[in-house]
Amino acid sequence: MKAAVFRKVGDPLAIEEVEVDAPAPNEVRIRTAACGVCHSDLHIVQGVLPWPPGAVMGHEAAGTVSAVGSAVTYVKPGDRVVACPSPFCGKCHKCLTGNPHLCAGRGGLRRRRNDRPRLSGRGGAMTQFADIGGYAEELLLHENAVVKIPDAMPLDRAALIGCGVTTGMGAVLNTAKVHTGSSVAVFGAGGVGLAAIQAARLAGAGKIIAVDLLENKLAAARRMGATHTVDAGACDPVAEIQRITGGGADYAFEVIGIARVVEQALACVGPGGTAVSVGVVPPTDPIKVQWNDLFQEKKLTGSQMGSNRFRIDIPAYVDFYLQGRLNLDDMVTRRVRLDQINEAFRALTSGEVLRSVVVFE
Ligand SMILES: [Zn+2]
Ligand SMILES: [Zn+2]
Repeated sequence: MKAAVFRKVGDPLAIEEVEVDAPAPNEVRIRTAACGVCHSDLHIVQGVLPWPPGAVMGHEAAGTVSAVGSAVTYVKPGDRVVACPSPFCGKCHKCLTGNPHLCAGRGGLRRRRNDRPRLSGRGGAMTQFADIGGYAEELLLHENAVVKIPDAMPLDRAALIGCGVTTGMGAVLNTAKVHTGSSVAVFGAGGVGLAAIQAARLAGAGKIIAVDLLENKLAAARRMGATHTVDAGACDPVAEIQRITGGGADYAFEVIGIARVVEQALACVGPGGTAVSVGVVPPTDPIKVQWNDLFQEKKLTGSQMGSNRFRIDIPAYVDFYLQGRLNLDDMVTRRVRLDQINEAFRALTSGEVLRSVVVFE
């Protein structure tokens, strides 16, 4: 099969021929239908996050099961699935206390060092980014990395739910648990930010304030539920949010990944408010917290993949879509072929798309 492979920081992804092994007892082989182009892949290519070379990239994928291992009972060939970058072991303390996204046992779901590799190609064994490797015509995953979805769900839009939509919606609904009537600020109105905005609307937030530098993104935010928009290039967004909310938002979400903007998110919430850091901040960038914010009982937390329980959350998000309550159609702004992946990264960097999706025949 063909796949887009990370070989070296700064180089474009290489389209290579990759061999897929047969499923082991707990594994599922999938014909990929679509894979969204998400910032985390770009972070690896740019060297913001370190990752070993020889990895098939992509982690926001959906497709149709083509074969299953001898012990798999959850899915069968022909089932449609979304892959999730939060595989869970189902046995560890985190899984058993309702936090499978923090699973301590996911390493045990991979093949062992001396086993045949799932994927091999130029230079031998290859790895799967985020335990998925979605920019590829086929996926070979542990069954605990997939969730079944109904046949009525279009797979290119289902793919988005695998990472970006779950990350944004889960930050609002699971991590922060936004309550009805509250005020919410979202810094960054790209794919993840728009999912957070839509989740805030579903949660019944009273004021939903989108902050961005680009008018096309603020316009999309208004269509998807923002009640107010703030152009951060034209004013001090913290002062503006405090003015709109009359003293500070109840919740703020940073979905860009800039330390200074995380600080703004904490500054713009009122006493007792919660700021959630969703975007990937480079590991070397410190985030400064003022003691006075702690004295005001403000909370600052991260959110990993929307604190998801993906086999619970993703079917719910699919229902929202099929019922017309979650707009995914307008979030897919470009469909590309696998060999156009590097151009899709360029479009992601420029901000001209909400989401590109690689689609396979
Ligand atoms: Zn992602
Ligand atoms: Zn676990």
